[in-house]
Amino acid sequence: MIEATCHCGSVRLTVPEAPVQVTECNCSICRRLGARWAYYSPSNVRMPVAGSTQPYVWGDRMLAFHRCRSCGVTTHWQSLDGAQDRMAVNARLFEDLNWDAIKVRHFDGADTWSYLD
Ligand SMILES: [Zn+2]
Repeated sequence: MIEATCHCGSVRLTVPEAPVQVTECNCSICRRLGARWAYYSPSNVRMPVAGSTQPYVWGDRMLAFHRCRSCGVTTHWQSLDGAQDRMAVNARLFEDLNWDAIKVRHFDGADTWSYLD
C-alpha cells in the first residue's frame, strides 16, 4: 500500500502498489497541470473523503480532474462514463518514489492520441 497526499494533507488516496510506469500527457489540461499519471482500477483505490476535492469537468465531459479544495493540488482523475475501469492518480503525490526506476511514458493527447515512445 502506498499513499498519495496533497500538500495540506486533506486529500489522501491509497493504492495497492507504487507505479512501475507513469504517463505524461501533452493535452490542454495535462500540460498545464504537470501531473504524472499512474493508472489503477477504481476498485483498488481507497478514495479521498467525500467533499475534500473539487472536480473540474469540461469539453466532452468524459473525465473529472480533482484538486484539493484547500491547497489546490491536483490529485487524480476519474472517468465519468462508467464504462472505463480506470482512473489515474497523480504520481507526484507519492512520497519517496524512486523515479530512476519508473518508466515515464509520453502520451500525445494533444494530437494523435497515442504514445510517442
Ligand atoms: Zn490539500
